[in-house]
Amino acid sequence: MQTHFKRGDAVIIALVLCVALLLLLLPLARSTDGSAVLVISLSDGSETTYALSEDRALTLTGNSHTLTVVIEDGAARVVKSTCPDGVCRMGAISKHGEMLVCAPAGVALTVRSQGGDVDAILG
Ligand SMILES: [Zn+2]
Repeated sequence: MQTHFKRGDAVIIALVLCVALLLLLLPLARSTDGSAVLVISLSDGSETTYALSEDRALTLTGNSHTLTVVIEDGAARVVKSTCPDGVCRMGAISKHGEMLVCAPAGVALTVRSQGGDVDAILG
């Protein structure tokens, strides 16, 4: 006898299963992000690489502009900048290939996944 098993119950069960699946998959997705690095290119052509898995705050200077970059929870964002347009403060980057550029300061932040096949180019 399954007459008291209503269609609405099935929808709720499906939703709960979806949420449970998402919760299971999220940590997995984050663990792959753990190998991602933030590459900071400055106006003088220098590049510095930081692990996105380690929280930190950085102060960058370029073309007499100062940017404060925060790496937190596997994502990097510009929290403060003295540049006039403020475009670089628009969002956070965490996935391979994502970029934040501050044109006035000549600073570019790029996320790259470490050991990825695309990143075999050195020098
Ligand atoms: Zn900017």
